[in-house]
Amino acid sequence: MPFSRSAWPARLALALLALLLCGASLLLWHQLKSTEREHVRERVESQARLLTRQLESSLNAQAQDLYRMAQLWNHHGRLSREEWELEARISLQHFRGYQAIQWLGPDLKMRWLLPLEGNQAALHFQLTPAHPNFNLAMQAKARGLASFSNSFSLVQGGRGFILYTPLYIRGEQDRPVFDGFLQGVFRVEALMDELLDTVDSADFHVRLLEFGHPLYSRDQADLSAPLQQELPLHLLNNRNFTLQLSPTQKLTQQLVSPLPQVVLGASLTISLLLVAALALALENSRRARALQAGNRRLNEEVGHREQIEQVLRDSRERLQLVVDLTDSSRDGLFIIDPQNRNILHMNQATYSSLGYSSEEFSRQLKEQPEQLLLGFHAWLELVRQAHRDNSTKIFQREMRRRDGSIQAAEISAQLVQLNGHEYLIGVSRDNNERLQLEAQLQHLSQQDGLTGLYNRRFFDHQLHGEWRRLQRIGASMALLMLDVDHFKRYNDQLGHLAGDDVLRRVATALQGCLQREGDVACRYGGEEFAIILVNTGLDGGEHVAQRVHKAIEELNLAHPASPLGRLSLSIGLATTTPSQNNQPDSLVAHSDQALYQAKHQGRNRTCIWNPAN
Ligand code: GH3
Ligand code: MG
Ligand code: MG
Repeated sequence: MPFSRSAWPARLALALLALLLCGASLLLWHQLKSTEREHVRERVESQARLLTRQLESSLNAQAQDLYRMAQLWNHHGRLSREEWELEARISLQHFRGYQAIQWLGPDLKMRWLLPLEGNQAALHFQLTPAHPNFNLAMQAKARGLASFSNSFSLVQGGRGFILYTPLYIRGEQDRPVFDGFLQGVFRVEALMDELLDTVDSADFHVRLLEFGHPLYSRDQADLSAPLQQELPLHLLNNRNFTLQLSPTQKLTQQLVSPLPQVVLGASLTISLLLVAALALALENSRRARALQAGNRRLNEEVGHREQIEQVLRDSRERLQLVVDLTDSSRDGLFIIDPQNRNILHMNQATYSSLGYSSEEFSRQLKEQPEQLLLGFHAWLELVRQAHRDNSTKIFQREMRRRDGSIQAAEISAQLVQLNGHEYLIGVSRDNNERLQLEAQLQHLSQQDGLTGLYNRRFFDHQLHGEWRRLQRIGASMALLMLDVDHFKRYNDQLGHLAGDDVLRRVATALQGCLQREGDVACRYGGEEFAIILVNTGLDGGEHVAQRVHKAIEELNLAHPASPLGRLSLSIGLATTTPSQNNQPDSLVAHSDQALYQAKHQGRNRTCIWNPAN
């Protein structure tokens, strides 16, 4: 399980606590152990001391037999051999540690000796000054006290000790006379084995040292054993011995209590259990906190999702509303992928106004775009160009209805780049009516209200337009300016309404005189008219002028105030080939001059502009 950053200090504290508790346990164990070791050491020491005292007492007790014999000797005089041997045998039976009991006479020569077996070598022994015990014996003799020798090489072989007990008999005037030594001879091993047997020494490995040198050992004592005791051993009056005592393993085990180990084990277990319980509690609280935090986050997440879902629901409802509203629009609204012409969205008006179903329209756009929207690919290029120019354009296009007929459509289109993809958003509208209305308005704005001919504004527009066109192709143009003769008088005589009527009839007649496409008759103003003849020279102009005169004549409108008696008009004709050197206005001026000339020459005629006039 991964550790959270916040759990580390607590875990560290737990680890420290564990270390502390283990340390305290070890300290306690160490204390108990050393107390116990001290206790064991004291017990071993006291037991060792007891053993030493017992050994000393035991030897003392054994020596009492010899002392008693010596006292008998000293008080009653030299014992008979039989008495001596009896006493000696009793002592030998009593204590098996003897090698021999012997009497060394006053001449220091061997007299009596028991048992003979094993001691034959000593039968002829004499204590001489060369003997290592000589001085000791002499001191014993001088002081009258028994002395226990150091170890030395026995004549019988091996090492041993001798207890020298000086003997005295009554001499002259009852003075004590030295009568030799009653001797207890001991082999080292036999003496020690026997002494140790008489006491309870099984708990120790024993070693006897003389002047610090090993003399005897029972069992293989471990000299480096920590509980080993070294105590002085007084063998009677000899203080040159030391006893080394090492407790046996059995004794050590008896003395050593398992309490420190038990305490250590228990305290370590309790410490670890405590730490484990704390760690468990810590982990549980951490998990509980994590769970709480998780729940909180979950709740927040749930709340957040609910909000998002609400927003989505709202958006969906709004989107549906927008879609429904767009469906109720009379304008077509569509979003397509221009690459593959897939439709992302379109409202009902997009396809139903053309008589298609949604599927038919989609299929048509996909498979036959040029059929559906005439010049589709060229239009797409124009839309892209508009996008590059950063503008939205309204295109006048034509769409084919399901029945094959054509419908004018005004399409506002825009390319949109979204997430690296190109979309085309379009709004289309059937503007047939508006186009017709516009055409009508256009026409009305160009038309003269009274006569139905083109008006003066259209004349100016047409004259300049044709001028430029003919200049480009190098063709000629003729202009006829026409004015009704004596029309003021007509009005005056027949009334203004009759005048209007005449103007209408003249206009119709003029219109009837134009046979070529591009020729235009206009009402120039009042009772003046103008006819533009394109690609027409002087001959053509004269021809049309004559036709006009003839048509007016055929109208045969009575004009009481005219010398002619009927309505007539005068025409001024000028022709030119438009170029950069002349202007449309000059052509008008020339026609006007020619008209003036026709009036001047008597009216009801045509005059041609002549630069010479
Ligand atoms: P002429 O041209 O032969 O020299 O004589 P005129 O009488 O025609 O002379 P002018 O051009 O001066 O007179 C034009 C007259 O045309 C004046 C006006 O009464 C008349 N007129 C102009 N416009 C209209 C119009 O719309 N309706 C009617 N009824 N008369 C008009
Ligand atoms: Mg006039
Ligand atoms: Mg006139």
